[in-house]
Amino acid sequence: MTTLDTPPADVTREAPELLVPRLRAAYTSGRTRSLAWRHEQLAGLKRMLVEREAEFTAALVEDLGRPPFEAWAADLRASVREVEDLQKNLESWTAPRKQKVPALFKPATASVVVEPLGVALVIGPWNYPVQLLACPLAAALAAGNAVVLKPSEVAAATSRAFARWVPDYLDPAAVAVVEGGVPETTALLEQRFDHVFYTGNGTVGRIVAQAAAKHLTPVTLELGGKSPVIVAADANLQLAASRVAFSRFLNSGQTCVASDHVYVHRDVEQAFLDVLAAEIRKRYGADPRTSADFGRMVNRRHTERVKALLDGGGHEVVVGGEVDLEERYVAPTVVRTTDVDSPLMREEIFGPVLPVLTFTDLDEVCATISAGDKPLALYLFTGSDAVVEQVLSTTSSGGVCVNDALTHLLVSSLPFGGVGESGYGSYHGRWGVDTFSHHKAVYRRPSWHRDLPLLNPPYGRFKQKAA
Ligand code: NAD
Repeated sequence: MTTLDTPPADVTREAPELLVPRLRAAYTSGRTRSLAWRHEQLAGLKRMLVEREAEFTAALVEDLGRPPFEAWAADLRASVREVEDLQKNLESWTAPRKQKVPALFKPATASVVVEPLGVALVIGPWNYPVQLLACPLAAALAAGNAVVLKPSEVAAATSRAFARWVPDYLDPAAVAVVEGGVPETTALLEQRFDHVFYTGNGTVGRIVAQAAAKHLTPVTLELGGKSPVIVAADANLQLAASRVAFSRFLNSGQTCVASDHVYVHRDVEQAFLDVLAAEIRKRYGADPRTSADFGRMVNRRHTERVKALLDGGGHEVVVGGEVDLEERYVAPTVVRTTDVDSPLMREEIFGPVLPVLTFTDLDEVCATISAGDKPLALYLFTGSDAVVEQVLSTTSSGGVCVNDALTHLLVSSLPFGGVGESGYGSYHGRWGVDTFSHHKAVYRRPSWHRDLPLLNPPYGRFKQKAA
């Protein structure tokens, strides 16, 4: 028999129908509610990411051919920063939030009590397989929940690293890792959770939301899409090229908030392409295949997928274009296109290929963006406040960066999440604590306070007034 303090030896193989009730029992016992427990878990998570940095980095290199510095900065350090932010603010973000009370109800008081939801399921993707599991995990723990983690089977080495190290650093009575693919995730989703947090694609997002709906379980969907970039005629082109190159080619283009395609004003198209080509050469040298700073596609299937997008036609290659299926290599590539119906312009690219289109009328660009699926991010390069205002007020996206790309996701005072086809719900910092909490309305009257006579029947004495 297992108890709260002695979970089964091989927790990663525990059947979901046993695992979830075991974690729920831990939650119901009150174990996860105290701020002391939450602090312990956050400290444990941070220690795991710091002490096991070498193991997780090796896993990221194995899964994604990541340059070790990039693995550390984008996955490990980014996760530690999120944990530290939660540690620093835990008391204030989880404290009851005092609310105003109408004069009629005084001396009663009102507050919003931030309470944990129960048992959360976090399903992660393969592209930033540490950060996108560790950050929602940190938020769920900070909010006082028990958590089941389901790493992506596609990033197999990182998945194994979570399964190996989480039980050593986090409370095994309340946190478990379940490895596996579709069958294991499907079996998990049959259980009743109190929140499901899914990061990945929209097709699976719909499957997750449908499964959760059977239990009326709230869901956060962190999905992807085609995040556009607008480079206005007055933009600082050097700066735009550098930041677009960073966001497009980081992790070999496998970033949910990558710059997916660029609309550049016709007057500066050639100048922009020239500085972009120079920027790529500066970053990865004349032969990016030999660069220690350029990663690989996660597997052959995704390499073939990006190759098919490139082979789909409708564009002219300006930089790169080489693909090596054996090596899972796609060169940093820029193409010039006018064909908005090509596969490259219809699907999220999720690889190191950047289509560039021209425009002359900003209204038309905004209308095109608005006519499509709402993207996860939109990036705008301009020196004009009027242009910023026009784009902000006529388009919708999960987030926006002006004169930058991708960096908004590092600012944890901002909610990170999508809208429409790019998902719903958000996290990071306080937004993550709120996602994994119930906001309970508490109205409190002193026991000596007498009822107002007009609220109670018989109402007969007021009839004349109402008539
Ligand atoms: P993936 O294939 O690793 O899938 C994500 C998770 O879904 C995995 O844990 C997997 O086991 C599970 N899964 C897959 N098929 C399933 C099914 N049929 N039923 C239940 N579970 C299933 O990752 P992916 O979807 O290829 O990730 C890439 C996508 O994720 C891109 O669209 C990208 O933009 C998006 N993404 C979004 C964010 C964000 O924060 N919004 C971050 C990263 C990636």
